[in-house]
Amino acid sequence: MTEKFDILSCSEQELTEYLTKAGQPTYRAKQVYKWLHSGVGFDEMTNLPKALREYLKENAVIRTPSVEEKYVSKDGTVKYLLRLLDGELIEAVFMVYNHGNTICISSEAGCPMGCKFCASTLKGLSRRLTPSEMLGQVLCVQNDTGKRISNIVMMGIGEPLDNYDNTVKFLRLVSSENGLNIGLRHISVSTCGIVPAIDKLRQEDLGITLSISLHASDDETRTSIMPVNKKYPIAQLLASCKRYFEQTGRRISFEYTMIKGVNDTPHHAQALGDLLRKSMAGCPVHVNLIPVNTVKERTYVKSDEKTVQAFIDILAKKGITATRRRSLGSGINASCGQLRYSKNSNFSEQ
Ligand code: SAH
Repeated sequence: MTEKFDILSCSEQELTEYLTKAGQPTYRAKQVYKWLHSGVGFDEMTNLPKALREYLKENAVIRTPSVEEKYVSKDGTVKYLLRLLDGELIEAVFMVYNHGNTICISSEAGCPMGCKFCASTLKGLSRRLTPSEMLGQVLCVQNDTGKRISNIVMMGIGEPLDNYDNTVKFLRLVSSENGLNIGLRHISVSTCGIVPAIDKLRQEDLGITLSISLHASDDETRTSIMPVNKKYPIAQLLASCKRYFEQTGRRISFEYTMIKGVNDTPHHAQALGDLLRKSMAGCPVHVNLIPVNTVKERTYVKSDEKTVQAFIDILAKKGITATRRRSLGSGINASCGQLRYSKNSNFSEQ
């Protein structure tokens, strides 16, 4: 059997071409596009002729995930384990912030990057997600919560820039006028630092916020926790961040996972402050500190609150603004990768 057409991954232009080939008038594309992005199935597209609905059911597929499990925390955070059509499991998290409802989505099932503190990468990459599967997470969660999502962070399972084309396509779809129309300024893409992809991204003219998972300010420490640093060391990474700011004018956000004894001492804070001042001179930056979430399979321990505060104070003295990431969803294992890992039957025999 041939694969069905992945219709939710289509731009409006591609959808027009597809439907024209199927003998439909051009105005149908807008109708179908709007229906698809409202999260409904073909049967619910009530203003389409029945024959077209039947044609679409037979020939196309809407690759929206379904809710496998969900965990609701007291602060309103909802952690989802989602199942893709081929059975792969991914995670998404719904969070309520003052600035709006936010979803954290996955870009890959598993992850090939091998960061030592992260649960998503424990069994490597299973496969990359399609644009429709990324968009489908937003539609599925919006539908399940009944709340409109206004912000997206690509900080779930996977490395978005390892799935570059599909990520960029998703960003264009989710921000499209006849789609969910979520402003690109309300979307953050987080990367472990694939330099050529950052350089390519800055040419796309997207206006998203770029988040860099830095986690260390010297190559030795960074390489020991993030293998990607061997290929793209800190100096190269920060040079590409600088180019990104110079072209886009967008402030860069740096993620710094604080691991007790590994990267959290006053010496590390000073080194980070000096590094950012020097390498990112003239570029506004923000540092997000996240005490590491302990992953059962890893030995890392989170820094205590006093250490985090001391770190913030040292950075402030050097003129770098840093905040501790607000912890939402405590008690529901909200950090990504852990749920997928523990639920995936393929993983449990090892
Ligand atoms: N691959 C992308 C996005 C996914 S991870 C990236 O590396 O940025 C989203 C963020 O969570 C990253 O900053 C990642 O380093 C961090 N993270 C992963 N595991 C963590 C853990 N156990 N505790 C705290 N932060 C973690």
